Amino acid sequence: MRTSIVFLAALLGAACAGAQPPATAGYHVVPGSFLPNRGPDGNSVFLDAPDGLILVDTGRHPEHRDRLLGYARARGRPIAAVINTHWHLDHSTGNAEIRAAYPRAELHASNAIEGALTGFLARSRAGVERQLAEGRIPEANLPEVRRGLAAMDNPGALRPTRPVTASGPVTIAGRRLRMNLAPFAATEGDVWLFDEAARLAIVGDLVVAEVPFMDTACPEGWRTALDAIAATPFETLIPGHGELMTRADFLAWRTAFNNFLDCGASERPRADCIAGWRRDAARFIGAGREAMIDGYAGYYLDSRLRATPEERTRYCR
Ligand SMILES: [Zn+2]
Repeated sequence: MRTSIVFLAALLGAACAGAQPPATAGYHVVPGSFLPNRGPDGNSVFLDAPDGLILVDTGRHPEHRDRLLGYARARGRPIAAVINTHWHLDHSTGNAEIRAAYPRAELHASNAIEGALTGFLARSRAGVERQLAEGRIPEANLPEVRRGLAAMDNPGALRPTRPVTASGPVTIAGRRLRMNLAPFAATEGDVWLFDEAARLAIVGDLVVAEVPFMDTACPEGWRTALDAIAATPFETLIPGHGELMTRADFLAWRTAFNNFLDCGASERPRADCIAGWRRDAARFIGAGREAMIDGYAGYYLDSRLRATPEERTRYCR
């Protein structure tokens, strides 16, 4: 049962990023798609660098990949480097084809993929194969399910050529960035970027506008990561899913996140915690999607924040 809920959670989705920055900002967002009954794509971001384009996250679906390759071709600039904020397949499935098209591009990511390959991904693979064998995956979802299995079969495309093992300034393709590693947060190692010149933070799934995806989360480590983001002087923040945020948006989201964790740790009724998330995060939840988001909040409350002590801390070490 749990596996099928996890799978469904991975298939369901939220809203797309909308507004684009001004052309002079030196970055371009390719919004993720996030539709019902379909696996999401995370937002992707292109950064203009002296030596080419830096691509942050590569999405899941072929359509998303095509938008990424199409943008690079239209710009007439090579993808000089790829950064994965984290290994979740809605952010990294496109790695193989992007890197095949641009074989000189280095892949910057944390080493958390190693634990994922033997842990979460191995378990979800077993669950998906069982569902396939039992004919329980809808026909329409078979292509993306097979694409996910193919990504797991090709772990070399997910492994960094330039592992991110600490936070600090870096120069990638000639562009200065601050690369940050948040240990034990949304995953075992989340990478997020701060571009001081653009006052821009790119934070992957440390911020998911409609509801934090806690499938592989260490909630308390995640709380700490949000504090580190808050301490950074960004003006614009690009979340892993959802629209660009101002600093005020982000601080409101962090409050919603912290309140949700606090409620989960309290004796308050389950329904209060779900209603609290919906109230605190209202500005980020798309119209008509409230019931679905309630379902997610309840699922993460049960499966993470109020799970057994072992499960609550499963991804904290
Ligand atoms: Zn994601």
